Amino acid sequence: MALWITDECINCDVCEPECPNQAISMGPEIYRIDPDRCTECVGHFDQPQCVQLCPVDCIPVHPQHVETREQLHARYLRLQAEQQQRPQASSQGVASALAEQGKPAEA
Ligand code: SF4
Ligand code: SF4
Repeated sequence: MALWITDECINCDVCEPECPNQAISMGPEIYRIDPDRCTECVGHFDQPQCVQLCPVDCIPVHPQHVETREQLHARYLRLQAEQQQRPQASSQGVASALAEQGKPAEA
């Protein structure tokens, strides 16, 4: 199950940097959780870190994102794979930018 942040959030900024999946971000008024990135901390910690840290206890399970531990683990693996591909994609971007400028990319 992904989690979500209710309107009781006081914008204390504690949870956002502690999320291992970068699933928490500031919304128009309060923080929010991207259900496509929240694994309930499966793969990283035994307990959801944001829930552990929130001083006002405003991070329940999202009723519309009920998922099994297997589904959450599969999301964890997908996010890990995306993270590993990022530096490679970035160096490819540099190589193509250099090629456009007529410069050879470093090996
Ligand atoms: S439960 Fe874990 S992965 Fe989900 S938002 Fe909280 S800290 Fe991030
Ligand atoms: S820890 Fe709780 S109160 Fe603080 S920003 Fe996160 S959700 Fe809001």
